[in-house]
Amino acid sequence: MAGSKELAHRKISIALQGGSVFAVHYNEKVPYSVTLIPGDGIGPEVADAAVCAVEATGVLIEWERVELNAGVIAKTGQSVPQAVLDSIERTRVALKGPVSTPIGGGFQSVNVALRKKLDLFANVRPVRSLPGVKTRFDDVKIDMVIFRENTEDLYSGLEHEVVTDVVTSLKVITRLASLRIANYAFAFARAHGRKKVTSVHKANIMKLADGLFLRCCREVAQKYPEIEYQELIVDNASMQLVMRPETFDLLLLPNLYGDIVSDLAAGLVGGLGVVPGANMGEKHAVFEAVHGSAPDIVGKGIANPTALMLSAVMMLIHLREQAAAGKLQAAIERVYAEGKHLLPDVGGKANTAEFTSAVVAEIRR
Ligand code: NAD
Repeated sequence: MAGSKELAHRKISIALQGGSVFAVHYNEKVPYSVTLIPGDGIGPEVADAAVCAVEATGVLIEWERVELNAGVIAKTGQSVPQAVLDSIERTRVALKGPVSTPIGGGFQSVNVALRKKLDLFANVRPVRSLPGVKTRFDDVKIDMVIFRENTEDLYSGLEHEVVTDVVTSLKVITRLASLRIANYAFAFARAHGRKKVTSVHKANIMKLADGLFLRCCREVAQKYPEIEYQELIVDNASMQLVMRPETFDLLLLPNLYGDIVSDLAAGLVGGLGVVPGANMGEKHAVFEAVHGSAPDIVGKGIANPTALMLSAVMMLIHLREQAAAGKLQAAIERVYAEGKHLLPDVGGKANTAEFTSAVVAEIRR
C-alpha cells in the first residue's frame, strides 16, 4: 500500500501539474484500496486527471500505484509483472490507463494478458452522446452498451508459422465463455430495464466458431422473454451502426468484433476521448477507457481524460458509491453542456488541466 508520505507527495505533484487548481487534503480513514495503473503514453496524464476528479467527490480511496509499461515488462521479463497482479489480487479493483503493445512483433499484449490472467471475461463499454459534442449524429441520442467477450477468440495468441510465409492464427470460441458473456449482457439488460440485445457474428462464414457463439446467445435469450433479441452479421451491423445508431441498445459480441465495433461506436459520439469501459470478472474489476496510449499526442497536454473519468464513474458504481458516481457524471455533463473547457478532440480549445479543473469545480459547486 502507498504510505501516507508517498500519497502526500503524489497529491502535491498532481496539484502542481494541474496548475495548483486542486485542493490537497488528507484523510485519516481510507475505506477503499484501489490499484492505479497509469500505463504509458497519455495514460499517466489522464490517470492523474481521473484521480483528481474521483478525489473531489469526497470518496476516500488509497491508491496503490503500480507500473505497467514497456520498461517494466522488459525489466521483469513478464507480460504482466507479478507486482501488478498481486496488487489487483489484494484490492480487487483497478483504474487503468492504456498500455502500448508493439505492433507485428515484440511482447504479447499486456492488456490481453491481464484480462486472461485475472479472468476478466466481460468487457463492458457504454457509448452515449454527451451534451455539446458536435458529431455527425447531432439529431439523434445514442445510448448503447457493448458487451465484448474478453478472453478468447482470435486474441488467444495461438499463432503458428506452418512453413515460411504461411501462418495460422487460431480462433477459439468455447461454450463456457460465450454463455458467460451472454448471461452477463442479458442480466445487465434486465437489471437496467434495457429493451434489446443484438448479437453480432459472422456465422455465415465461420459456421462452427461463430455458430457456437450464436447458439449460446440464443440459449440465454430464451431465459429473458421480455428482452428483444436480434442477430446481425458483423458487416451489416457496422453499416447499421453508422446509418441508424439510435436503434441499438445492447450489443453482444465475440472478442475481435467487439474490439473493432467499440472504436466504430466511439466515433459516433465524439471519438475515443469520451468512451469508458470496464473489464469485469468474478473476483476482479479493471476500469479503463476504450482508447489506447495515443502516441501522437503524448506530452502535448491535450489528452482528453473524459473516457477515464467516466470509467471511474463505473468504478464508483461498482464500489457502491452511487452518490459520488452521480456527482462525477453530472459534473462532466455540465462541463460538456457549458462547452467552454472542452479538449480539441471534441472541438474545444482547453487543455487537460483546464478541463479537469472545470470538472473538479463543478463537483465542488
Ligand atoms: P489510440 O486509441 O491510442 O489512438 C487513436 C486515435 O485517437 C489517435 O489519433 C489518438 O490521438 C486519439 N485518442 C485516443 N485517446 C484519446 C484521448 N483520450 N484524447 C484525445 N485523443 C485521443 O489507438 P492506436 O493509435 O491504434 O494505439 C496506440 C497504442 O495503444 C498501441 O500500442 C495499442 O496497442 C495501444 N492500445 C492500448 C489499449 C489499452 O491499453 N487498453 C487499447 C487500445 C490500444
